[in-house]
Amino acid sequence: MALIVQKYGGTSVGSTERIRDVARRIARFRREGHQLVVVVSAMSGETNRLLALARDLSPDPDPRELDVVAATGEQVTIGLLAIALHSMGLKARSYTGAQVRILTDSAFTKARILAIDEANMRADLDAGCIVIVAGFQGVDGEGNITTLGRGGSDTSGVALAAALHADECQIYTDVDGVYTTDPRIVPEARRLARLTFEEMLEMSSLGSKVLQIRSVEFAGKYRVKLRVLSSFEDPEATSSGTLITFEEDDVMEQAIISGIAFNRDEAKISVMGVEDRPGIAYAILGPVAATNIDVDMIVQNIGASGHTDFSFTVNRTEYEQAMEVLLRERGTAFKAREIIGDNRICKVSVVGIGMRSHVGLASKMFKTLADEGINIQMISTSEIKISVVIDEKYLELAVRMLHRAFELEKEPVPSTA
Ligand code: ADP
Ligand code: ASP
Ligand code: MG
Repeated sequence: MALIVQKYGGTSVGSTERIRDVARRIARFRREGHQLVVVVSAMSGETNRLLALARDLSPDPDPRELDVVAATGEQVTIGLLAIALHSMGLKARSYTGAQVRILTDSAFTKARILAIDEANMRADLDAGCIVIVAGFQGVDGEGNITTLGRGGSDTSGVALAAALHADECQIYTDVDGVYTTDPRIVPEARRLARLTFEEMLEMSSLGSKVLQIRSVEFAGKYRVKLRVLSSFEDPEATSSGTLITFEEDDVMEQAIISGIAFNRDEAKISVMGVEDRPGIAYAILGPVAATNIDVDMIVQNIGASGHTDFSFTVNRTEYEQAMEVLLRERGTAFKAREIIGDNRICKVSVVGIGMRSHVGLASKMFKTLADEGINIQMISTSEIKISVVIDEKYLELAVRMLHRAFELEKEPVPSTA
């Protein structure tokens, strides 16, 4: 008998028929004698619909109230799933985040989990009951409803698995695992049987939405055994999906590049002709950070005649606000010849643990893009990734060509070492 946390995403519970399918899968695990905590998302499209309702009434809704609205999507699915399980003769009980007491901070719309009270869940599990928990939501110290950021049900699942010391956390979605890149963009993309935690962390942080970045961080911190699987396959014959491993040596596939991630939600700002002096980066980025805007890639050119150009990227949703801050500060905090913004860019990254021991990968990436006439606007690298910023209109072409150039559709040859 194992304690398993399963998370089902929006498309997996997108209709009552799908909810019935999920209930059948859960019933099968139950018959095998496992204890189950099930986290569900809202029905697909529902969170978008709820947020749009709020934005219909105000362009700038109060974040506390936005969370009150957004959290209702998951409340519907937990109740429906419990009803479906009851109709199959199984014992199940639903909980909102506040009922479990998933305690978070008060950063509405992007709250962080601080603690989880296991008592109710343990009592139910001991009584042979399936516990169903609303993903994406929690409650702060004052009793306010909070949400964990888009895609946050993944994080709810992993956090519950960590709190309960579950044997495994299974993330069920509409693809049967993590692929070399989004299979919607590259049909030849290949499912990875295993992926190291570090690679998954990079893939998520660089835009692969199959797992929310915070869920991967949680899995790393608490060493949660995490697996991505499809809820659309026959429960009797589901593939083993993708296992996120912690042991690099465990990885049988010795691929140099594991995958390609991309992110369309980016925007670039260039501050041209600023003085090349100590403190200039702080003068430009300090006010941006003070407004709680996350800055991603930063590039500063080598200055000529005492001046330099300074470029950075921000999330597209924060682009206008970042531009406002810079235009306000220009002339006081720093002087600049020009501030140029571009919100039609994207970031494409190749990720692989094998990069540590191989050279020439960056030049292969750059040549592939050059051969397609794609201009690289910014570059950033780490030990296991290379990212470039390019014009958004080339995103799909770049991802397809890089996938081909690195031969990601082919199984890597097993290492003999
Ligand atoms: P859920 O609603 O189950 O949380 P998401 O839409 O958040 O599902 O995540 C699953 C989707 O992630 C897939 O349908 C796929 O299009 C996308 N995706 C992006 N990158 C990858 C990747 N590398 N491997 C698999 N899926 C990916
Ligand atoms: N329903 C939320 C969203 O759409 C959370 C999730 O699906 O993970 O972002
Ligand atoms: Mg998701």
